[in-house]
Amino acid sequence: MVSKNVMRCQEFDDAVFYKIGCYCMHDDCNIVLEIENKNEDIIISMCQTLSFKTENDSKLKSIWNRLKGALKILVKGELEMEGALYMYDKDHIKSFINALEEGITRLERSKDESR
Ligand SMILES: [Zn+2]
Repeated sequence: MVSKNVMRCQEFDDAVFYKIGCYCMHDDCNIVLEIENKNEDIIISMCQTLSFKTENDSKLKSIWNRLKGALKILVKGELEMEGALYMYDKDHIKSFINALEEGITRLERSKDESR
């Protein structure tokens, strides 16, 4: 069963989407977990909105960081950033694992029904 801070959002024949909440409850930390059937492979991808903002930065520092990031993308064509999603208790982690297992099971069932 999927429950603690994990919610199934969308389901299609070839993909299932879950929203995984962060322990801090801030929506900006949430990730979208996609489990997708592609040919015979199952592909798992996670998407999180990343931000240049940090709570301790002044407006000027925040603008400077955005400019540096934009310049890196312009010059190098890439930007390395990291996001965090905190899971502190076992139920949250188990819910995440259950989402993975449930998504895979649903896709396999969907694949079997389409044959
Ligand atoms: Zn968070």
